[in-house]
Amino acid sequence: MPDAARFPDPGIPGTPVTSGMLEALREIVGDKGLILDEHGMQPFVTDWRGSLVGRAAAVVRPANTGEVSKVVRLCHDNGVAIVPQGGNTGLMGGATPWPTHRGILLSLGRMNRVLNVDPVGYAMTVEAGCILQAIQDTAAGHDRFFPLSLGAQGSCMIGGNLSTNAGGVQVLRYGNARNLVLGLEVVLANGEVWDGLRALKKDNTGYDLKHLFIGAEGTLGIMTKAVLKLWPAPKDVCTAWLAIRDVKAAIDILSEAYAASDDNVGSCELLSRASIDLVLRHIPGIQDPLKAATEWYLLLEWSSSRPRQDGTAGMSEKLEQFLAGQLEAGRVLDAVIAQAEAQARNMWRLRESMAEASRAEGPGLSYDVSVAVSRIPEFIDRGIKAVLDVLPTIRPYPLGHIGDGNLHFSFMGPIGMDRQTLSQYSAGITRAVNDLITSMGGSISAEHGIGIEKIDELAHYRSRTELDIMRTIKRALDPKNIMNPCKILRL
Ligand code: FAD
Repeated sequence: MPDAARFPDPGIPGTPVTSGMLEALREIVGDKGLILDEHGMQPFVTDWRGSLVGRAAAVVRPANTGEVSKVVRLCHDNGVAIVPQGGNTGLMGGATPWPTHRGILLSLGRMNRVLNVDPVGYAMTVEAGCILQAIQDTAAGHDRFFPLSLGAQGSCMIGGNLSTNAGGVQVLRYGNARNLVLGLEVVLANGEVWDGLRALKKDNTGYDLKHLFIGAEGTLGIMTKAVLKLWPAPKDVCTAWLAIRDVKAAIDILSEAYAASDDNVGSCELLSRASIDLVLRHIPGIQDPLKAATEWYLLLEWSSSRPRQDGTAGMSEKLEQFLAGQLEAGRVLDAVIAQAEAQARNMWRLRESMAEASRAEGPGLSYDVSVAVSRIPEFIDRGIKAVLDVLPTIRPYPLGHIGDGNLHFSFMGPIGMDRQTLSQYSAGITRAVNDLITSMGGSISAEHGIGIEKIDELAHYRSRTELDIMRTIKRALDPKNIMNPCKILRL
């Protein structure tokens, strides 16, 4: 059932889809590209957590850019709104239509081809519906590396990754999705195709248009292809699991790790004991690498594209030596270095299963925030106190990409409390968290975007000047407001 109570009509623009238009859509994409029955549309109109259910008149699945262009032109001419969707793993409801949406949902899932790999030029051209894992595997098959890596990589698609400017566990070294793109092809709101598929590192020819569409969550146009940057494949990788004294120790460890690893820190993930226990409770087949009398853990990975050479210290020797020093300094209480691929894989599964485990545990609240790395300990302390002031029995399980200053400041509802009761506290808790992060110079959305979930928060915390600039861009590129309306901004 569409969740009209939780998400009341924000005044979604757009005219309803007529039967004549459905026929026109069928002519463009064929039977294979059109889903009209409620049952078939259900997975597309329901968000990953299953907590947001919207509606659409049709799910349209074009097979190529030409079809996307024709579909968008048809919608534009008829004033019909479009919600673009990739893998539907976004956590902010950006890909979920509002319950009152009368237009279409356009899924990129059939456009999943790798079009070209240029190992010499370190570039790859792909369609927007390529699954992230497939892109990583293709790069590896050419002895190259595509660094974007996150828990949903088996189902999220590159168009969704770029539209949310996704982060993940390699941002520390390679940057977020925005930094991994050389060129884009985008179908604009009137159906015109912008061909910006240039594989150039240097191109100072006016405004850098691709950056308008990256992170726009489908509100300005539909990405259909991308040229991605590649890197040398890692050849010497060492993964370790550390029990640490406290969050301040995590920051000091990371700060010293850059030089000690010869600038080879790939990932540094902070986990609370509560978050680890959550995964162990719900996800079978994962082992606890280290049970220590501490609240905090780090998953640290160093990697180099230089193969190990006999007689010289590789990543594991360097990391071992580094950890010995950190143990002596009292920052690390205990540590284990993965001795085999399976052990490293287990550590990563523990980290990457967090969203799935929290979904299985029950209703909760999670804040994807960022702040200067050095202020993370202070934010965690003050933030937890502020949330407990509102609801003393809520259960914190913070974790995050600590090197990026990005915390998933997360809470499970009190045991036995249902979603509806928890939602009565959510406005107060959200205000407490976001007021604090803003007062500390941080951001209310580090990597998940705004979508539906944070639309009011963005309006509350961003200055009028910033919101006006965003609205001006939106109106210029989508004057009829048909591209994912009422996501990020209300006009
Ligand atoms: P969707 O959810 O389908 O869409 C996301 C947004 O992009 C929507 O607004 C949609 O309209 C728009 N969109 C999709 N495709 C296009 C297109 N071709 N053109 C224009 N607009 C488009 N995120 C992180 O940043 N870091 C993480 O570490 C991380 N871990 C996750 C772990 C799990 C288990 C899960 C479920 C999610 C995680 N996420 C993470 C969130 C999510 O995976 C990312 O936001 C991902 O980039 C979304 O990709 P998608 O293809 O599923 O996009």
